[in-house]
Amino acid sequence: MAATQPLLLVVEDDPKLRRYLQISLGQEGYRLAEAATGEEGIAQVAAHNPDLVVLDLGLPDLDGGEVIRRIREWSETPIIILSARDQERDKVAALDAGADDYLTKPFGNAELLARIRVALRHVSKDQGQAESVFKTGDLEVDLAARVVKLAGKEIHLTPIEYKLLTTLITHADKVVTHGQLLRKVWGPNAELENHYLRVYMNQLRKKLEPEPAMPRFLLTEPGVGYRLKLSLQ
Ligand code: CA
Repeated sequence: MAATQPLLLVVEDDPKLRRYLQISLGQEGYRLAEAATGEEGIAQVAAHNPDLVVLDLGLPDLDGGEVIRRIREWSETPIIILSARDQERDKVAALDAGADDYLTKPFGNAELLARIRVALRHVSKDQGQAESVFKTGDLEVDLAARVVKLAGKEIHLTPIEYKLLTTLITHADKVVTHGQLLRKVWGPNAELENHYLRVYMNQLRKKLEPEPAMPRFLLTEPGVGYRLKLSLQ
């Protein structure tokens, strides 16, 4: 297999799931490395510098958040976490610690592959020059000129609404936690003020969504945060 294919590291203690990932990701042409514990995972990131890490949150030795914090001390490699349904709080903590996205078990293969493609695309984009105009569907945001247009018509946003939108754009297609949004838009002291977010997200949806009650791209991730979904085009 060509060495130019992205190298993915799977950190998962369940051998069956590891085997499943090995087959499904291998079929897509990804190169794979594996680890069954957190310590081994951290060592493998250091040794192989993978393009992306798929990390199970329920590992026998280390807490998933701890694994992420240690990797983030020196590496910016994207991390997609796998969590069980009863790990809601761990999942949010892991995202706040620097994970890029998550999947809740059981997850579908298509969903996993889509998340991996998005995370890898973000890396290649970060290495190139940043795009100054963001477009998805009818929405167009000129980040340099700070102009927001919907179907060609300029939309006025308040400074907070604009900051909220551009924070989601920076992480387009990826989940952004309540805590991350609050810190970014309102500052470090606002971390627990979830109601600010609800109010401003509703305002933003009213201005940008055709049907604010059934958002098409400003999506809620229940219990976690929000995701700006890119249209498929
Ligand atoms: Ca596990």
